[in-house]
Amino acid sequence: MKALRYLAHGQAPEIVEIEKPVPGPGQVLLKITAAGVCHSDEAVMNMPEKEYLERRYPFPLTLGHEATGIVHEIGHGVNTSFKVGDSVAVYGPWGCGRCKHCSMGMENYCTNAAAEGIRPPGLGSQGAMAEYMVVDDARHLVALGDLDPVKHVSLTDAGLTPYHAIKKSLPKLGAGTFAVVIGVGGLGHVGIQILKALAGATVIALDLNEEKLELARQMGADHVLLSDADAAQKIRDLTGGLGANAVFDFVGANPTVALAQRVAALDSEVAIIGIGGGSMSLSFGNIAFNAAVRIPYWGSRGEFLEVIDLARAGKIAVEVQTYTLENAPQAYKDLSAGLIRGRAVIVP
Ligand code: NAD
Ligand code: ZN
Ligand code: ZN
Repeated sequence: MKALRYLAHGQAPEIVEIEKPVPGPGQVLLKITAAGVCHSDEAVMNMPEKEYLERRYPFPLTLGHEATGIVHEIGHGVNTSFKVGDSVAVYGPWGCGRCKHCSMGMENYCTNAAAEGIRPPGLGSQGAMAEYMVVDDARHLVALGDLDPVKHVSLTDAGLTPYHAIKKSLPKLGAGTFAVVIGVGGLGHVGIQILKALAGATVIALDLNEEKLELARQMGADHVLLSDADAAQKIRDLTGGLGANAVFDFVGANPTVALAQRVAALDSEVAIIGIGGGSMSLSFGNIAFNAAVRIPYWGSRGEFLEVIDLARAGKIAVEVQTYTLENAPQAYKDLSAGLIRGRAVIVP
């Protein structure tokens, strides 16, 4: 089968021909219907080699942690009601399934995964940018039914990750409040829709160019701003001097983290979701009183079901730019050039 693989440090990922995998005991083999392109893949490939190896990423690595597929083969001893031919999405942050967090469906915060070498597909295990992918356990499968996999595959991450971050801050986001979204890419454009669907807050979205701001407007943002040196003051002005009750930073670089710190209101919440390497130093007086800063990661299985329900209800939708598997390397080039509107999705 064909797969998009990161083969050696510093090289662009390539399409290679590899053996079709066989599901082991307890595993399920999917025929991939769609795989989303996330900025995190770029972060993994741009990591210094030492860090890549220390974090135990393998070479070669098939990319793709947003996955949908058709159940193709069910391994020995799998106890599941899914049948061959079912259309499914894959809950990506695989955990041990036994610890307290996993027991509550929060496999994204599994306390055993690192020690047991359990890795998400495409981020340590072999991923979805291929014709077939092995899923470690049937509990990671979620029925898609008649939902179009290409339009919905990115709910597994670009939907779930902002949903998890936003849901936690909803008590801060009643009517009359303000939410700031920094970065209107794959995650951010869904984040705006989730805020509009769930919160009473006025949404202020920021990005670097007019195309992204236009996308933000279409997604329902109430105000859009260029993310520049004047942004903090403009947010102050829009919020009557009080600042934002919640800030969702989908970039996480030094300038955006600094912006989040400056515009956070009294008693607000700041979620740094982007992994742009920025950092913040906190002390008395350099952030509003009682502001809280979180670094959320992905989301829970229950939240993923809620995200699917939101999409089924027509309240959120992913803007998709499709590529064939053969053309997947181009999708990563376009992502780093800032040319993707919404999410790039690979369709094998
Ligand atoms: P993306 O490339 O699709 O979107 C990023 C957006 O941010 C782009 O529109 C870009 O123009 C904009 N941007 C860049 N610099 C900016 C700045 N200074 N100010 C405002 N906007 C700026 O990326 P994505 O796939 O949506 O991922 C977003 C981030 O979230 C990445 O860092 C990714 O690695 C990370 N991520 C984190 C998690 C998690 O669990 N914490 C999960 C998925 C992705
Ligand atoms: Zn991702
Ligand atoms: Zn666990």
